[in-house]
Amino acid sequence: SKEVGRNSFQLYKASMNARSLERLSMLSRFQNALEYDEFELHYQPLECLSSGQILSVEALVRWRDPNLGMISPAHFIPLAEELGLIIKLDNWVIDKACKQFKAWRDAGTNIHRIAINVSAQHLCQGNLAETVAQTLEKYGIDGRNLEIELTESSFVSNFHEAKVALKRLKMLGVSIALDDFGTGYSALSYLTKLPIDILKIDASFIAKIPDEYGNSEIVSAIVAMAKALNLRVVAEGVEKVEQKQFLQKLGCHTSQGYLFCKPLSADDWERFYSQWKATS
Ligand code: C2E
Ligand code: CA
Ligand code: CA
Ligand code: CA
Repeated sequence: SKEVGRNSFQLYKASMNARSLERLSMLSRFQNALEYDEFELHYQPLECLSSGQILSVEALVRWRDPNLGMISPAHFIPLAEELGLIIKLDNWVIDKACKQFKAWRDAGTNIHRIAINVSAQHLCQGNLAETVAQTLEKYGIDGRNLEIELTESSFVSNFHEAKVALKRLKMLGVSIALDDFGTGYSALSYLTKLPIDILKIDASFIAKIPDEYGNSEIVSAIVAMAKALNLRVVAEGVEKVEQKQFLQKLGCHTSQGYLFCKPLSADDWERFYSQWKATS
């Protein structure tokens, strides 16, 4: 009967945990979002700690769902990876970031590089280097204007494929940054076996300097190692003046964080940039 049907549905619903329900609805929302352009990029500048110049901007994806509002990438990137949609999203990001960079350059903005995040899965699957090459050509941008941020997990499962893909990107002039450095497995051999240009020290280390015992030493050792290996080094998540001063003393090149600027929408970033330019 109808009653039995309803009851068994209730039972079924109850047995589905909250997470799988959420995933189901997120899957269809996510697919719609790709179709209806609900993603946008926000931009956060990286500041040179010796000259005070803005060296680059990192593009960070945002999802504005009409019902749920702004959804954090920390929430939907893992989901997109699980659902096999990450390459589609990454490719959208690559196109959007290059398009925006060209528009800013045409408008006379003097930012040298734009950084994008690429999912670990993407490096060894798909044709990342080909996609990047095509997109650079589409917008008439030099590869030296682009940085690609990857995490260590990109290299763990398929080292050889990863190396080949990175070499292709390097041939285009693209810089490679190792994101979230110090977390994960931190196999230091990657630093010499792969063509990496930049180390981004994870924010969790920066949050604990200069006070917490042991952390300052770790950060200082990472900066020294990066220098010895001729790598550029970026401190992520710099929120306090004392952190910035500590990093300056160590000779850390670059800082990124709320202290200098939060990630901003394209419009807000343009306003921030012209004000910064006028006062610096
Ligand atoms: P991430 O690449 O390590 O990005 C840095 C995160 O730290 C960003 O979070 C940024 O908003 C935040 N942040 C920056 N400065 C500060 C600070 O001073 N204090 C604190 N507490 N946080 C700060 P967001 O934008 O939520 O991104 C989270 C993660 O999602 C990123 O971590 C990255 O792994 C991933 N992600 C973001 N955009 C993309 C994308 O376009 N593609 C892919 N594949 N992943 C992305
Ligand atoms: Ca990043
Ligand atoms: Ca990071
Ligand atoms: Ca991250």
